Amino acid sequence: MERRNLRHRLTQALTACVLAAVASLATVTATGTAAQADGCYTWGRTLSSGMTGEDVRQLQIRVSGYPDYGAVLTIDGAYGPATRSAVIRFQQAYGLSADGVAGPQTFNQIYALQDNDCTPVNFSYAEWNRCNSDWSGGAVPASTARFNALVSMWKLQAMRRALGNVPLYISSGFRSYACNNAVGGAAGSRHLYGDGVDLTGSPSFCRLAQQARNHGFSNILGPGYPGHNDHTHLGTSPSRSWSAPSCGI
Ligand SMILES: [Zn+2]
Repeated sequence: MERRNLRHRLTQALTACVLAAVASLATVTATGTAAQADGCYTWGRTLSSGMTGEDVRQLQIRVSGYPDYGAVLTIDGAYGPATRSAVIRFQQAYGLSADGVAGPQTFNQIYALQDNDCTPVNFSYAEWNRCNSDWSGGAVPASTARFNALVSMWKLQAMRRALGNVPLYISSGFRSYACNNAVGGAAGSRHLYGDGVDLTGSPSFCRLAQQARNHGFSNILGPGYPGHNDHTHLGTSPSRSWSAPSCGI
């Protein structure tokens, strides 16, 4: 009797154990499938023309490197024709079905491209800001400078891919006025706003300047422009200012 009870209890315990294991397995599986719980941002619905919202705005940031030649995508949370075109170009760049509708395929591609702090995988806040750690002291509030830097990084991520997935070398990004003065930067430099970035190394400065015209940079300065023979400067100024005379720009 005593032994039977023991065996019964053991069986019960084993059964409970197996059930618990199955339950935990189910949890893991459910989490894995529901997935797309991204460390940065997770989209909860498919987005298409005419929709508005913070999720549209988050999408616009990620596709800001895919506007028309010479254009800058407005990040306003409204899914208009320019956003649709940018989504199509993004989809084409990654070999997805290019329908201009941002659904699971598009979001999964974005998840694969972004770090938990929302920067694209090949760029970081640290390399963009060697001036001060809190993004203050520039021409705009620190949060704006940091946001502008983020958008610029996504533009560079697009440009990097278009150039054949080559590394891009950043020599200078955000600068406070103090940092800008220290390096002799221009008075109204986009570096003070967070979106300005200087590229060195390879590809050639002209190749960088020419390619940048396709990726949402309204401020492009390169070889032939005073002080820009040893790097190419990119940024997003309110109106277009391109000058790299040695490169035909
Ligand atoms: Zn610069």
